[in-house]
Amino acid sequence: GVRNAGEPEFLQAVTEVAESIIPYIESQPQYKKSKILERIVEPERVIIFRVPWLDDKGEVQVNRGFRVQMNSSIGPFKGGLRFHPSVNLSVLKFLAFEQIFKNSLTGLPMGAGKGGADFDPKGKSENEIMKFCQSFMTELYRHVGDDIDIPAGDIGVGKREIGYLFGQYKRITGTFNGVLTGKGYEWGGSLIRPEATGYGLVYFVEEILKTNNDTLLGKKVVISGSGNVAQFAAEKCIEKGAKVLTMSDSEGYIYDPTGIDQEKLEYIKHLKDNLRGRIKKYATKYKCNYFPGERPWKVKCDIALPNATQNELDINDAKALIKNGCFCVAEGANMPCTPEAIAVFNRAHIFYAPGKAANAGGVAVSGLEMSQNSQRYSWSREEVDHKLRNIMQDIHHLCLKFGKETNGHINYEKGANIGGFVKIADSMLAQGVV
Ligand code: NDP
Repeated sequence: GVRNAGEPEFLQAVTEVAESIIPYIESQPQYKKSKILERIVEPERVIIFRVPWLDDKGEVQVNRGFRVQMNSSIGPFKGGLRFHPSVNLSVLKFLAFEQIFKNSLTGLPMGAGKGGADFDPKGKSENEIMKFCQSFMTELYRHVGDDIDIPAGDIGVGKREIGYLFGQYKRITGTFNGVLTGKGYEWGGSLIRPEATGYGLVYFVEEILKTNNDTLLGKKVVISGSGNVAQFAAEKCIEKGAKVLTMSDSEGYIYDPTGIDQEKLEYIKHLKDNLRGRIKKYATKYKCNYFPGERPWKVKCDIALPNATQNELDINDAKALIKNGCFCVAEGANMPCTPEAIAVFNRAHIFYAPGKAANAGGVAVSGLEMSQNSQRYSWSREEVDHKLRNIMQDIHHLCLKFGKETNGHINYEKGANIGGFVKIADSMLAQGVV
């Protein structure tokens, strides 16, 4: 606590993991003796840098850039870049810490990292976004590489930003390689990468439901967010016959009791991706209710998928969900549920799937993008989707293996934490005091 004072998100993420890992470590003397937990919470390296750029008025702007290189025991550092005004060291350390377990769970050889800047892409011109990305990479390039550290997208960093970052990396280093994932398909990206986190989340939910001999058909689903993860989670839910009732952005949520179908979803994609628009417009177009400044957790549903950001679902939201009959919460975002909300889910014995397991599909397909780049080859849509589905099933198996309680209840949080931890701990032991 003292060493990381002023880093509440990081302490929250570590506490959550420590609660399930410590009893396990106590039962495994080799981990305890070698202080694996003490080592794993300390990043291998943190880089903080100035990002100066000229806005359209010719004025100098300055942002702060970061890269947290958290753990490289099972592969090169790997994790997204976030551009959002709320970015600080605490947020990135929490994300990098979660990434250790998530990447391990995928079964692919990827270490963990996270980075970004306190830059706000909202309201910026195309030119300003490009200038910013170029300045950011002008420092970052010396710390990354396809065998060293492979960043990707996250909030505020999509295909367009990855393009500008990649262009600048290539210009500075004179090499064309897989240093970033989430690239456009024409220049080294993988099919299914844009869809992967959202699709993977829904594949994971299907596995959960299977343990109850159930399916998604006819289920009422409440989704927050309307970005990359939310859009493709909604798409897969619709395909599986579920009814998607809500989507949101940072200003409010829409509630469409007739269900968001594929056609309406296309409108949301267009709105968000091309117009940087607000979800409010959906309510006008399709004549449904819009709730400004609110989150969608009061809507009656079977399944809730928080897909926007950290700490967006608190104890009161959790109580409202349970009261309304919700029996499954699966996190598409990273750490969207507060610890108090998770405690409510656990007490009610509903299915709660933490992000490090449920949203690992994105980084898994990023790992597959790295494999394809190394081979200088690309796999078909079906091939990648099939691999994604298998990976999500394998993660679910690991959660069952390490998370099944004596009363038969599956604690996915414990399962994911221990399931991700073992491979990291064994690798660190094998590599000495590193
Ligand atoms: P996007 O930038 O595409 O979308 C983010 C969405 O969340 C937008 O609807 C945005 O609304 C909303 N949002 C962002 N910040 C806030 C906030 N502070 N309060 C309320 N709403 C907010 O990001 P992604 O869809 O990629 O990421 C969403 C979450 O999923 C994040 O937690 C991310 O870390 C996680 N994730 C993403 C992966 C990926 O592959 N992209 C992989 C694994 C996890 P607005 O437009 O108003 O800002």
